[in-house]
Amino acid sequence: MSTAGAQQGRGERGRGTAAAGTQAAGTRLDPWLDAYAERAHGMRSSEIRALFSVASRPEVVSLAGGMPNIDGLPMDALAEMSAKLLRDRGAEALQYGSGQGETEIREQVVEVMRYDHVHAHADDVVITTGSQQALDLVTEIFVDPGDVIVAEAPSYVGALGVFRAYQADVVHVPMDEHGLVPAELEATLGRLAAEGRRVKFLYTVPNFHNPAGVTLSEDRRPQVVDICRRHHVLILEDNPYGLLGFDADPMPALKSYDPDGVIYLGSFSKTFAPGYRVGWALAPHAIREKLVLASEAAILSPSRLSQLSVASYLQTFDWYGQIKEFRQEYRERRDAMLGALHEHLPELSWTVPAGGFYTWVTLPEGLDAKAMLPRAVTNLVAYVSGTAFYADDQGADHMRLSFCYPTPERIREGVRRLSVVVRAEAEL
Ligand code: PMP
Repeated sequence: MSTAGAQQGRGERGRGTAAAGTQAAGTRLDPWLDAYAERAHGMRSSEIRALFSVASRPEVVSLAGGMPNIDGLPMDALAEMSAKLLRDRGAEALQYGSGQGETEIREQVVEVMRYDHVHAHADDVVITTGSQQALDLVTEIFVDPGDVIVAEAPSYVGALGVFRAYQADVVHVPMDEHGLVPAELEATLGRLAAEGRRVKFLYTVPNFHNPAGVTLSEDRRPQVVDICRRHHVLILEDNPYGLLGFDADPMPALKSYDPDGVIYLGSFSKTFAPGYRVGWALAPHAIREKLVLASEAAILSPSRLSQLSVASYLQTFDWYGQIKEFRQEYRERRDAMLGALHEHLPELSWTVPAGGFYTWVTLPEGLDAKAMLPRAVTNLVAYVSGTAFYADDQGADHMRLSFCYPTPERIREGVRRLSVVVRAEAEL
């Protein structure tokens, strides 16, 4: 079909949204444009991925990505571990496995979750290809086009991408320095109920939030659970950073307050290594069965080699000691970033993360983080504009700065470069 025909076909079916328009412009030469499912028209490259190629040039200090710093991992010992695994159990590790995941790793996941005060049974754990796949599976089994998902403002960009793919209507609820604001959640759920709209779940990252850097306070946790229970709203608790607190032990997970009302997602990506792509979902019984069916339909079974590798790491290494080292390193990097912000950009405000990878910076009035980004990259520093973390048009007055990957020295230099750009823009 000709390009003109494809465009006309699109119009006839009434996809006149701005997102579809952008998609059409970007795929003008795509002869299959009229064949895509409705949901594919809303898919677009995340601002982060679009940035990746420029930001990964060595001369650019990237405060943009969320890559963990895995330099401290004992690579030689891991190589030996992998060789031994293949030698001793190769036929098992390289075979198809269970759709739910190997019992061995599910049992260890149960031990890991004890640190979050979650007492679970291995039968209720589903191993996924990173927690990203778990986000996809949960959304797949709950969300029809137009359904409401309530999510923090701002929210993890990768979750928003999934929600968009399933054509959810995301309604944001504000946070403050103590995390999600219970009164705002109550008001939003009340308003949606009054409008007759069924909320499928609340998506929340209670610990060391990506991108906001804040943590839900302990006294708010039972309040959030109680509000959702009263409104019969399921909670999707996403907790990849929970063990990476700098000062204190993890607070109880939302899951620990209401095992039947919460799906808990975990991951080894930040506490060990993302390359294995091992994450998990802990879900109430009936939901767990649906998740396994959906996962089998999508991928048959998660990588057995990866699962057995992570299991053998947990069995034979001091994995918690390694996490303590990661925490120390990330704390130094956080301190470098906050110190540099104080020194170079004292007029701005930012959150003070007690763990994790990110701080959320508020720009002076009139500055637009998205518009400023090309000038920042020209000045050899990258960040993510706040606009990436909202399903609507908010966020231009914010940026996410990551301190996980560059060294403290590079972080300080990155913030200094950023200050030059901000000052030029704002005439501070
Ligand atoms: N949730 C959050 C909040 C994240 O920050 C990330 C990774 N950036 C994920 C989920 C997905 O992580 P993974 O798939 O590597 O487990």
